[in-house]
Amino acid sequence: MDMSALELGKRIREGKTDAVAAAKAALDRIREKEESLGAFIHVLPEDTILRAAEDAQRRIERKEALSPLAGVPFAVKDNLCVKDCPTTCGSKMLKDYVPAYTAHAVTRLLNAGAVLIGKTNMDEFAMGSTTETSFFGATKNPYDPARSPGGSSGGSAAAVAAGEVSFALGTDTGGSVRQPASHCGIVGFKPGYGTVSRSGLIAYASSLDVVGVLAKDLADAKAVMELLTDKDPADMTSVEAAFEENEEGKPLRIGIPKSLRDDPLDPEVRALLMKTAEEWREKGAEVSEFDLALTEAFVPVYYTIATAEASSNLERYDGVKYGHRAQNAGSITDLMERSREEGFGEEVKRRILMGTFVLSREYYDAYYRRALRLRAAIRRAYEEALSSYDLLLTPVTPSPAPLLGTFEKSPVRMYADDLYTVGPSLAGLPAVSIPAGKTKSGLPVGMQYVVKGSAEQHIID
Ligand code: GLN
Repeated sequence: MDMSALELGKRIREGKTDAVAAAKAALDRIREKEESLGAFIHVLPEDTILRAAEDAQRRIERKEALSPLAGVPFAVKDNLCVKDCPTTCGSKMLKDYVPAYTAHAVTRLLNAGAVLIGKTNMDEFAMGSTTETSFFGATKNPYDPARSPGGSSGGSAAAVAAGEVSFALGTDTGGSVRQPASHCGIVGFKPGYGTVSRSGLIAYASSLDVVGVLAKDLADAKAVMELLTDKDPADMTSVEAAFEENEEGKPLRIGIPKSLRDDPLDPEVRALLMKTAEEWREKGAEVSEFDLALTEAFVPVYYTIATAEASSNLERYDGVKYGHRAQNAGSITDLMERSREEGFGEEVKRRILMGTFVLSREYYDAYYRRALRLRAAIRRAYEEALSSYDLLLTPVTPSPAPLLGTFEKSPVRMYADDLYTVGPSLAGLPAVSIPAGKTKSGLPVGMQYVVKGSAEQHIID
């Protein structure tokens, strides 16, 4: 499982190995690592996996599954529905939920012959940056078990980095694919909003949620993205991805937003940012710094909009239709209150409270409406920057992977660390985290590249 997904797919197609052997290797690695890593909430039963692998192998031999990832084992974040397979969203609320259908993105991969191994750990309802808010306990960073792999797609990132699977799906609302990729030394690709259907994704903040890819390298991420993108009538925000090529022979113009290269950046991360810029210059790119407007508004605007949408999306978990149901409730109100009280963790409750507050009649204009206006201005600031630059280069997160427990007492500090990733999310732009090197103590650090909404090809070519 240490070779790339594309290499493995090629070896399977050439008959040098087969899908069943690849699935067995994934299961062996899981047996070896999982106890200390905790990347999965649910590994599918071995016979289910092996049957799927045999089926994929038959389709490959009959030339029915021709995709470069046919036969390759993968994992899916546990907020993407898979039919007949527990899908918990990392929450007690959905601990026993078994969906009746499979998410569009997962279906695309299964149709292409990729072999699903299991569902990965995540922050509860994707709210968090460390995977510690999961009802099922924290995942460990494969580089240092005392540290977090990042979040909220921390299980997917750790599973790929530890070689338990060849690639994984994650979701990114304000950084949840890019940030764990950075902390685990792999590539995390967040497509532009709407490029991948959200059908079958359990919603956190619907105007920001995007299905993304965690992969060993850019070529793998590109191969997965090519399978995922299509217009899906089941998601009305889904759009056709328009790929633009960079004009032949023109030097790449890379911009570094000035306000995002200093405070609160860890000196080692800053040094790696500067080293990355230098490497681009050596390759002939024009790299310069510029003023990106409104960066001080990124985090407050994101947390206003994300929590508002979360409070509305999570209203459906009332103990009546589905999800956790409190026992021996007296009245219907009591049932709803106690089901929500028992089913949701602390961070999710905090977000529901914040979101309900900013949507309340007295504060709607002052917070929510204002945040929407600022979001539009942030989008324009990015558009303007991307009319002068092909790529915007920033760190992914101010420091390398945090020790577990770092943010226990201070969620606001955790929110502040989302500064670099929430901007592209608010603007709906594609962004990718690419490994840029390691700190002196050996922790991986990624850099983020942001491109125009219609130009995802730039960063994957
Ligand atoms: N850390 C951010 C949050 O907690 C981003 C999470 C995500 O992208 N799902 O909202």
